[in-house]
Amino acid sequence: MESANHLNQQEYGAIERAPLPRNMIENSMFEEEPDVVDLAKESPSYPIDSDDVVYEPRSSRLLVRGLGENDLDEDEEDYESSARLLGMSFMNRSSSQRSAASPYTRQQHSGSCSKPSTKSMVVGVVVLVLVASMLMVFYFLLGCTFTTEGCQKTNSTMDSIYPISTNGELFPWAELRLPPSVHPVHYNISLYPNLTLMTFQGSVSILVQVLHETKKIVLHSSDMNIIKATFDGKEVHFLEYKPWQQIAIKFTEDLKKGRYVLDINYTANLSSNYDGFYNSSYVDTNGIKRVLAATQFEPLAARKAFPCFDEPAFKSTFTIKMTRESNYISLSNMPKVKTTELKNGLQEDEFEKSVKMSTYLVAFIVADFISVSNNVSKTTVSVYAVPDKKEQVQYALDTACKLLEFYNSFFDNNYPLTKLDLVAIPDFLAGAMENWGLITFRETTLLVGTNSSPIDKQLVTSVIAHELAHQWFGNLVTMRWWNDLWLNEGFATYMQYMSIQNVFPGLDIDTEFLNVRFKALAKDALNSSHPVSTVVSNPEQVEEMFDSVSYEKGASILLMLNAVLTDVEFQKGVSEYLQKYNLSNTESEDLWNSLSQVSEQNLSVSEMMNTWTVHKGFPLVTVKRSGTQVTLTQEHFLLNAENSTDDSSLWHIPLTYVTDKCSVLSSCKQVFHLKDKTATLKLPDQVKWLKFNFKSDGFYIVHYEEGWKDLIDALKNDVNVLTGKDRAALINNIFALSRSGKVFFKEVLNLMDYIRNETETAPLTEALFQLGQIYRLLDKKSELYLAARMKSYIEDHFGKLMDSQSWDLETSVSKMTLRSALLEMACSLNISDCATKAMHLFDQWFNSNKTSQIPSDLVRTVFKVAAQTDEGWDKLLDLYKHSINDPEKRKTLEALASTQDIRKIIWILQSSLDGSEIQTQEFPLVINTICKNFAGHLYAWDFVKENWDKITQKFPVGSFAIQSIIMSATSQFSTKNHLVEAQNFFASLGTKGSQMRIVQEAIETIKLNMRWMENNLNTLQCCL
Ligand SMILES: [Zn+2]
Repeated sequence: MESANHLNQQEYGAIERAPLPRNMIENSMFEEEPDVVDLAKESPSYPIDSDDVVYEPRSSRLLVRGLGENDLDEDEEDYESSARLLGMSFMNRSSSQRSAASPYTRQQHSGSCSKPSTKSMVVGVVVLVLVASMLMVFYFLLGCTFTTEGCQKTNSTMDSIYPISTNGELFPWAELRLPPSVHPVHYNISLYPNLTLMTFQGSVSILVQVLHETKKIVLHSSDMNIIKATFDGKEVHFLEYKPWQQIAIKFTEDLKKGRYVLDINYTANLSSNYDGFYNSSYVDTNGIKRVLAATQFEPLAARKAFPCFDEPAFKSTFTIKMTRESNYISLSNMPKVKTTELKNGLQEDEFEKSVKMSTYLVAFIVADFISVSNNVSKTTVSVYAVPDKKEQVQYALDTACKLLEFYNSFFDNNYPLTKLDLVAIPDFLAGAMENWGLITFRETTLLVGTNSSPIDKQLVTSVIAHELAHQWFGNLVTMRWWNDLWLNEGFATYMQYMSIQNVFPGLDIDTEFLNVRFKALAKDALNSSHPVSTVVSNPEQVEEMFDSVSYEKGASILLMLNAVLTDVEFQKGVSEYLQKYNLSNTESEDLWNSLSQVSEQNLSVSEMMNTWTVHKGFPLVTVKRSGTQVTLTQEHFLLNAENSTDDSSLWHIPLTYVTDKCSVLSSCKQVFHLKDKTATLKLPDQVKWLKFNFKSDGFYIVHYEEGWKDLIDALKNDVNVLTGKDRAALINNIFALSRSGKVFFKEVLNLMDYIRNETETAPLTEALFQLGQIYRLLDKKSELYLAARMKSYIEDHFGKLMDSQSWDLETSVSKMTLRSALLEMACSLNISDCATKAMHLFDQWFNSNKTSQIPSDLVRTVFKVAAQTDEGWDKLLDLYKHSINDPEKRKTLEALASTQDIRKIIWILQSSLDGSEIQTQEFPLVINTICKNFAGHLYAWDFVKENWDKITQKFPVGSFAIQSIIMSATSQFSTKNHLVEAQNFFASLGTKGSQMRIVQEAIETIKLNMRWMENNLNTLQCCL
């Protein structure tokens, strides 16, 4: 899936990404967390995560036995006593219903009444300690750090250890992950969505394979009304356990190994959120409301459209039939085979049997779209959109065809389907979704209007490149479980940059990728970050995996690996991996092994890369040079090291460096593998300076203990002694070091002195971003004097460059990126005559009846200036309502939200949340934009707090939309009062979000801001 964060990529620091299916976390979702994992003992062949075993709770074994399902076998014996202990502790707090169900209940009960001997007292103490420590483990696993409410759930945990079905019977399965004994082989799915009633009828026939004898079949189903179910032709009744979205059939006799057919008829409502089988609507240019139905299943919402084994490792084939009215078309993953006329004027489309795939990749759409097509090799590529936007589809078609050709050849493995559809959905929350053969997009990420600039095209190209890469990485070969989501997302993200660099070199994607790496470093420097590969159990944690670490850090470490291997080796390893695991599931280790096998340097890819996927965070390399002797030390880099829990981590760093002798060409690059805490590098000759991490291809930062001065002097002499990327990286690293307290801010200002001579986009935009962040902190803290000083500082260092920017049409992406960053800053800080020029351009455009063009990269800046007057704001609101050009529409919305007028701000907040005049999909963008300005940021924060329930009904807890909303609203606080306020608010959320990782991130960020202010106000006062 593509997050929506690309949608805002020019706005550094903005986290815009959209969520996935709405989630259904009930209180009990956390409760069972420790129970999730114990599949290993059931079936050694079943894929499990080694980490999972660590957390295996004894209770889950107890439970299963309590149900009388499994007899103890010998190697399970040793679990028994601990199971009893836990059973005892649980029982004391749980209801009597379980004492009837569990034999251990009674045993323990009688045991606890007997008079204790000394021996039993000792045992008792040990028991108590064990119980206490287990409870602590539970406490922390359950994430009760913020709220006492969260912890109360432990009581109900015990209730649901034996899940009770909706009808009161015991549910025969007690884990979030499905039992491995039954696998789906094929699904026949027939659906009839009624776009008037917003309901659908469905029937699914699942051919299942029983691998081990069992008395139950358990699968997923959510929010549906099951009318009839048969198993091998005989009617059966289902038990349902709603909190886990599971249904089950119990059998009195063991089912023998073999194949069976399970048929289910059901009805359900089309979802009104953005997941499952959902309805979407838009108003066409004639003012008529049109409706459509589309799907978004990743990660956990296929179960909302049809009962299924909804885990990525349960791959299967699918045959889909879709009934529709004749004025609509239907689409699915595979090509259509035939259409049958039904009674009542309805038609039924049948699609070819699919390739073997995971449920989250299934997709179908019923809509009245138009399309254009072209052929690549044996595949027909088509782009679909609403009829009003038929002029905007050609760019996507051409781009998709070129990229498909590139991937067919790069992966040495042709895209396996005969068709590939790319569909722009008018109301879609994620950036895009890689459903096999039927990729869905937001309109902004697929459609390109006639006035679109290369920057708009860069966005569309990136998203298409990402989703196409998924057709191999994700669809053909899929991560086994969501803990390795990065295998899908990190790889697709990496391939998106690599393919564009090859196929569309003019789009300057390299600079964009560098910014993405900086962004990933900033997130991963927080204590609240997590390893790339992380234990994931409950749905909220699955949602949270769709974050910067999986996507951007994942892509960054692949770049680092590719830079160590040769391009040929990397490509060969990847294509061999795809061949070997074609249509199956993998873990990180499988990829590393494939790459190790092709490496001629005898590099153990696995040994190196595991250090990057298993530890959270990244290393700081400290360099001390004395003559030709260079001492290198690595440590876990944390912005706030005070509460560090994990500082013994060591990385295998393929450290690269250049020196003053040779520093710009790739052939200058030297490599040193730093695996230990400290190592010494002996240089052959004396050098004036060293620069490590050539082009910032590695995922680490570098501190030159006494070497900063030499580098700064060299740059002041001649900026071209280093590549633009290396200069950008120096700026990035020194700001990070200052934020962590490792260097004084004065040193940062020393480096920034060279910037007046800088001309390249990457270092300039990085410097602007960093200084802009500090300006915003000062502004929000009402440090008016210092904010004014910072403004003068920016004007002093960038003013000349700002003045020299042209306002005419521009074709170079790099120049446009730089110009829009400079002018947006200039206009927002009211530097020079930026606002006057912008207003002039706006008036010219409006008076020409919108026929004269504003350069597309300047539209946002110009509109933001215009939106500051009542008249301009009204004109823009009118434009927003009527525009059919989605990128322009978004920029217009950002301008509207940048107003300083509080009444308008409140109106925008309300209209975007209720979806009346502004699409709800844009709510995270609205919050982000409002929070950038002083005028509205506290209103936005209050609005988020007051409307939290409503917000989490629209966006899933843990999702990227929620992550973005929280960070936008709080990341600029730097006072004690705001810290306490945020802490209290998050604590009050209980199960509606207090355990989210983003909450810890937000609190940590506020604390860092406070500390930075405390430490640096004096320096700012003296030296800005
Ligand atoms: Zn993706």
